[in-house]
Amino acid sequence: MFANILTISFWASMALMLLGLAQRARLWSNGRAQPVALAKLFAIPKRYFVDLHHVVAREPFIARTHVAVAGGAILAMLVIGINYGLALYSPVLDRVLLGASCLMLAGAAMVAWRRLAPPARLSRGPWMRLPFTLAAFALGAALAAWYAPQGAQAPALLAIVLLALGAAELALGIGMGGPMKHAVAGLLNLAFHPRQQRFEGKRSTDLRPLNLEGGDFGVAKPADFAWNRLLQFDACVQCGKCEAACPALAAGQPLNPKKLIQDMVVGLSGKTDAGYAGTPYPGKPVGKHGGAPQQPIFPGLLDADTVWSCTTCRACVQECPMLIEHVDAVVDMRRSLTLVDGAVPGKGAQALDNLRHTQTVGGFPRAVRYHWAVDLDVPVLGPGDRTDYLLIAGEGAFDMRYQRALRALVKVLKHAKVDFAVLGEAEIDSGDLARRLGDEAGFQQLARANIATLGKLHFKHIVTPDPHVFHCMKNEYPALGGRYDVVHHSGLIAKLFREGRMRLKGEALEAPLTYHDPCYLGRYNGELDAPRDVLAALGIAVREMERSRERGRCCGGGGGAPFTDIPGTTRIPDIRIVDARTIGAEVVAVACPNCTAMLEGVVGPRPEVMELAELVAQRLGD
Ligand code: SF4
Ligand code: SF4
Repeated sequence: MFANILTISFWASMALMLLGLAQRARLWSNGRAQPVALAKLFAIPKRYFVDLHHVVAREPFIARTHVAVAGGAILAMLVIGINYGLALYSPVLDRVLLGASCLMLAGAAMVAWRRLAPPARLSRGPWMRLPFTLAAFALGAALAAWYAPQGAQAPALLAIVLLALGAAELALGIGMGGPMKHAVAGLLNLAFHPRQQRFEGKRSTDLRPLNLEGGDFGVAKPADFAWNRLLQFDACVQCGKCEAACPALAAGQPLNPKKLIQDMVVGLSGKTDAGYAGTPYPGKPVGKHGGAPQQPIFPGLLDADTVWSCTTCRACVQECPMLIEHVDAVVDMRRSLTLVDGAVPGKGAQALDNLRHTQTVGGFPRAVRYHWAVDLDVPVLGPGDRTDYLLIAGEGAFDMRYQRALRALVKVLKHAKVDFAVLGEAEIDSGDLARRLGDEAGFQQLARANIATLGKLHFKHIVTPDPHVFHCMKNEYPALGGRYDVVHHSGLIAKLFREGRMRLKGEALEAPLTYHDPCYLGRYNGELDAPRDVLAALGIAVREMERSRERGRCCGGGGGAPFTDIPGTTRIPDIRIVDARTIGAEVVAVACPNCTAMLEGVVGPRPEVMELAELVAQRLGD
């Protein structure tokens, strides 16, 4: 009798779960069409156990908790399905079920322990009941496994009640948008992830090009996201790792990547944000926003200043255990604001206007870009000339402070007898700023103009000190037909040291020095060692800040943030300088014009900011 009830309950739960899944799938299907490669479903186990492992393993306790609770649950449900679903009623399988239930119970206890005093970044609300409903399921399954063969009535009744409680969370919760929807959406996200290259051991950080002729102007309403991006939002477990990493939130700007993703879930499911139980956007009360798949995102679901606060630093993406791509969503929404509404705040609109008319961010005549090199005898590459390295100075060339860094770089290249040349007046902006500010049309125009110019010239490599130019040309030009071997100046200088082409004089810098990783060099391109190799070659022992390498904190200068300039309670570069001061650094080495400008802009006592090339140039011998 008890066994028969379990059989009926199992199939009823399965039906509920499938109904719920169909309901979520219907919501995801509101998104734009994308090919569905069903064969990718078979890739889930490998992607879960191998590709995801290093992200989850960053927090060993949570990794072990998840293994116990999810592993136990999956095994328990599998055994229940086989033993009771198929009406086998095997005592041997009951013993396996008992083992799986105990494992799950231990996991649920670990979740409960974690939830006793959860860190501020964790959402509460329905997530707080999860350890209890999971424990109920585990206990119910254990009782069933233990007592079902004996036919005991009272424990059997208790087992059914507990199993029903657990099944409501596990099966019903999926359709109703409860916490457990992450289990299904998370696994499907592994299969249908928009950036499949992430599972092929490759870095995938380039933005998708818009088909402007085809009328693709970004995302104005939730349904404008591709269906697999809507699915991805549903995978969020509200762990808040993105929140803890976000520099904009730390600076009190109205952005929290976790809330942003939850707002997208609100939008895709046609609700309000009243049920959100985590850290809000600074200065914005919860419960005032709502949306629906076919309703405009702005201003119902989001305020525009939320997406304009993002520096596109990818710290959130780096941390997310569910492999969610926040930056793609932010830029897609910016694209609609810029291309359709023309609503770029602050000085962003002026910068885009300048780019349109002068092909420089600051609105300068192109002829003045290399004025800093007027006395340096820098060769300009013309048609018919050949060079090994084409030096692209970038927009830092118009900044008087950064011109010192560029002069130092030229000195270094000449010292090592590198065969290089510059573009001179032919150099225009790379399009990085336009793209991050959502002006895809501006980006594509600039990129195509650059590709046309470069196509007439003969060079082996491009070298640039600007990580934004580096990223754009290396990773985003190929989609428009421009394929180049692009190196950052740190990589080239490190190579020159390795080849023994640098002769140093004097003593190594003694002042404590730290190195600030530029997001577009480190997180976007994985170039973490070359700058440190250069500093090591100079005899400098780097003091690492707590947030360094892949987890480095943004300087606040990316994504057009200095132009849109959304107010917060403090400034991101101020926070970064505090990081440097905390470890007693007297010098901060930088390798990016934006970092140079942002960190040098910090007022009051602060460490000296020195560009990598400057540190090298001041030690050059004869
Ligand atoms: S990219 Fe950086 S600034 Fe933008 S949401 Fe993520 S962590 Fe925050
Ligand atoms: S987006 Fe990712 S990192 Fe942020 S809360 Fe959700 S799962 Fe956690």
